[in-house]
Amino acid sequence: MANINLSEISSLIKEQIKAYKEDIQTENIGRVVEVGDGIALVHGLDKAMSSELLLFPNDVYGMVQNLEEDCVGAILLGDCAKIKEGDLVKCTGRILQVPVGEEFIGRVINSLGQPIDGIGAINAKSYRPIEVKATGVMDRQAVNEPLETGIKVLDALVPIGKGQRELIIGDRQTGKTSIAVDTILNQKGKNVICIYVAIGQKESTVSSVYETLKENDAMKYSIILSASASSPAPMLYLAPYAGVSLAEYFMYQGKDVLIVYDDLSKHAVAYREMSLLLHRPPGREAYPGDVFYLHSRLLERAAKLNNELGGGSITALPIIETQAGDISAYIPTNVISITDGQIFLQSDYFHKGIRPAINAGLSVSRVGGSAQTKAVKKVSGTLRLDLASYRELESFTQFGSDLDASTKARLDRGQRTQEILKQDLHQTLPMENEAMILYCLTHGFLDDVKLEDLKRFEESLYSDMTTNELGMEIAKELRETKVLPDTNKLDSYITEFKKRFI
Ligand code: ATP
Ligand code: MG
Repeated sequence: MANINLSEISSLIKEQIKAYKEDIQTENIGRVVEVGDGIALVHGLDKAMSSELLLFPNDVYGMVQNLEEDCVGAILLGDCAKIKEGDLVKCTGRILQVPVGEEFIGRVINSLGQPIDGIGAINAKSYRPIEVKATGVMDRQAVNEPLETGIKVLDALVPIGKGQRELIIGDRQTGKTSIAVDTILNQKGKNVICIYVAIGQKESTVSSVYETLKENDAMKYSIILSASASSPAPMLYLAPYAGVSLAEYFMYQGKDVLIVYDDLSKHAVAYREMSLLLHRPPGREAYPGDVFYLHSRLLERAAKLNNELGGGSITALPIIETQAGDISAYIPTNVISITDGQIFLQSDYFHKGIRPAINAGLSVSRVGGSAQTKAVKKVSGTLRLDLASYRELESFTQFGSDLDASTKARLDRGQRTQEILKQDLHQTLPMENEAMILYCLTHGFLDDVKLEDLKRFEESLYSDMTTNELGMEIAKELRETKVLPDTNKLDSYITEFKKRFI
């Protein structure tokens, strides 16, 4: 003992201290205090970040929603039955991302990008965060290219441009989904990628949309993202964000994307459910205070990029279901105010057989006009007025009162307008056909055609435009120049056609 040199010991200790490397890793770990309905409250995660991904046992992930003083509220992205009180939870330091890429085209996926169509795994190579800031002002350009729906009344009265957000609003069973699906069908061969996001829909609705797209060869350029009615509320909440992240991937490659959110009413309801379970204070109609922000930050991600960024676009068609036509309820007014116009579908028109059941007076497109195809714009100038005055006068005729000649003429024109604007399901039309039939209508060529003959007239005109020499020439000119050919040429062609038709 005696010969131990004290200074030696101290130098040994010093060396040890010098050589010591800190290898302690801290992990932010907490415990589940409450779990159920797709929600977990976790105690002890004092370093958790908003929207951070959490790892629960059994590989179930969660996403931080509420940061409170003594606990963290999270939504669960997996089977909540596998989680129990007292389970350990780890912070991952990551934000929720979804896989994106070309591999998704033609597939049916859930809100996490996992395939649910049973035809194998999707080997995605890239990921995008589910929540990103929308494209800024300087990165955008004005809407300047039409997105043709192939539905006469829409292309004429409520034109949609690429990069626009156009709301489809109406009561239940008024043809909302059909309009969106037909618009997708019409994108065939037009180089537009379509994403149909089903939020809280019945599985049967989603599968019939899938069948329709498949039958019409539209799955080749489409993706279906479904969080059906039976999925937990957090999945419904994430669905549109996952959809738009996928859309952004294509947009930043310079491509055009059309995304349908069917529907945002159910999305708001799922968010309300989630928020109430997270003990957030309820506001108007029991929705949480940030329900406006929920939809505005989603719809702001629709954009038309400037040419330096490739000129890609995301056109959004959100759908809202109203109760008894009340568009002044909380969620409808919110979404109306953050879109560039709305397509208002009316239940009584639908039942009268006026389909698509579009109310021309209440439907507007605030930016699409500048993108509308010139030929269609030229021939649809008076349509809205014709329809409005017809609807006004219609009630008079029910009393069988005597009508003067000019009123009768307006009624006749209105009746024909209404008839021509009807369109069957999945019968979308190329632009040249729309322009021609509307030209006939607004230039009085249909005034002497009997109402019951209109449909036959329309169909034979379209087929004539593919067989008759002058007809083919006009169709070609319309297709290529997008402007209306010389009116003398049009008039003589239609007069000749009418002779053949009768
Ligand atoms: P929900 O409120 O249930 O979502 P919705 O408003 O989306 O309904 P759709 O499912 O599109 O309405 O249409 C309802 C029914 O009306 C469907 O059976 C559809 O086939 C029919 N329908 C829709 N549009 C037309 C049309 N233009 N011509 C004929 N039938 C149509
Ligand atoms: Mg629907």
